[in-house]
Amino acid sequence: MRCYIAGVRHHFGLLTDQETTYKGDIVNAFEMAQSEFDKVAEYLNLDKNIASLLRWPLREFRFQVPIRMDDGSLQVFFGNRVQHNDSRGPCKGGIRFHPKESLDVTRALAMWMTWKCAIVDIPLGGGKGGVAVDPSMLSTSEKERLCRVWVNQIWKNIGPRNDVPAPDVGTTPQMMGWMMDEYTKLTGSYNPGVITGKPVGAGGSAGRTEATGFGVVYTIRESMKHLNMDASQSTASIQGFGNVSQHAAIGFADILGGKVVSVSCWDHKAKDAFTYSKADGIDPHFLQGITDIYGTIDREKASEAGYQVEHGDAWLSKDVDVLIPAALEAQINKDTAGQVSKKVRIIAEGANGPTTPEAEAILLKKDVFFIPDCLCNAGGVTVSYFEGVQNDMNYYWKREEVIDLLDEKLTNAFNSVLQKSLERGVSTRDASYIVAIDRVVNAMQFRGWV
Ligand code: NAD
Repeated sequence: MRCYIAGVRHHFGLLTDQETTYKGDIVNAFEMAQSEFDKVAEYLNLDKNIASLLRWPLREFRFQVPIRMDDGSLQVFFGNRVQHNDSRGPCKGGIRFHPKESLDVTRALAMWMTWKCAIVDIPLGGGKGGVAVDPSMLSTSEKERLCRVWVNQIWKNIGPRNDVPAPDVGTTPQMMGWMMDEYTKLTGSYNPGVITGKPVGAGGSAGRTEATGFGVVYTIRESMKHLNMDASQSTASIQGFGNVSQHAAIGFADILGGKVVSVSCWDHKAKDAFTYSKADGIDPHFLQGITDIYGTIDREKASEAGYQVEHGDAWLSKDVDVLIPAALEAQINKDTAGQVSKKVRIIAEGANGPTTPEAEAILLKKDVFFIPDCLCNAGGVTVSYFEGVQNDMNYYWKREEVIDLLDEKLTNAFNSVLQKSLERGVSTRDASYIVAIDRVVNAMQFRGWV
């Protein structure tokens, strides 16, 4: 909703509680995150007070982000930062710039970050932030001002030792560079560790760009070993063609030797989603070359190159071995779960919260093996952690060292979750929650919080 007050344009994406819910959509992301947690808390017979502490964030910040537009007008956006839990270390989690960004989405994402950091066993907690904005509508200088004002509004509550943001949907390494610079100016000392996902050469880590997508692929490789599947003969279809999905597509082909037949994206000019397919395998490097910084593929150029272009949902019904939802929440829901082909054996959740609990129940009955989001896409935060360590040392590692350590962390995390799932006879998602809750509760107990 947009309105004008005394010549100031306001975007009310985060203003009231009513507006912060996932209005008109299938599910509220925070309710989904809480229901996943509640189920396992009950199964573990977790103390009621500990459970109530963990099902809500410890701290939430909501603030205005007023910026001067290039035409001289003032425009006000709404921003937030949510710190879910920092018992294991500083909060960690991305900043999302998206028109549908809301406090409830941020709460859900912050909570999932707590579990994610615990599952890969890195000494960090969970946080997340955002602004309700469509960054593709802003000029470069407007985006820079948005990033700098966001930091101005929250800098006293973030920092290398308390809360470290990173990129997410709609934010880029360049934006992280501007944010780090603003924080450094405000604090008066060079503080690269305040934010991760920065460009290499400005405090960023080699391997961070591809980390989440490659992590997705390492967990698929381990799942295939468990399911006795031949990775080199396997096929995949992916939702999204942004940071996570591009590198998942590259890794699926280059690391596993498999074939990606479809990818999809949101076309911000057409305001619709499209799926791009090639039966003999897409060329992710070619598609990357015709994709903008928001992950929108140039439809005309893709058609000219022989890609079949279909409606956005088509990626979901492809006859493939692996589906990789790597765009947004609640994409596989009770209304769309029936479109999933019988051939699909693995759903690798590159995105956060892409499958609703109802859809998961339907697909588990069909013997689909889920790699839950908090495990599957944990590669990004793992290398963000490595980035923070390198910032602290002011010494930078080679890409191969980072990638090898990432593979080791993700493989170990996958095995802990799989082992817990087999041992307890529970789903991999429930097993990932058991591993995470156990580690977070232990830290809270050691610190005397509970
Ligand atoms: P991004 O902005 O780089 O890319 C998002 C992609 O999804 C774009 O290609 C966009 O066009 C596409 N998309 C959006 N809506 C769509 C729709 N309805 N149908 C098809 N495609 C659609 O974002 P990203 O960083 O790749 O993040 C994607 C997901 O992965 C998010 O859930 C994010 O929270 C999660 N994630 C990201 C990271 C990271 O390191 N970037 C780490 C962990 C999890």
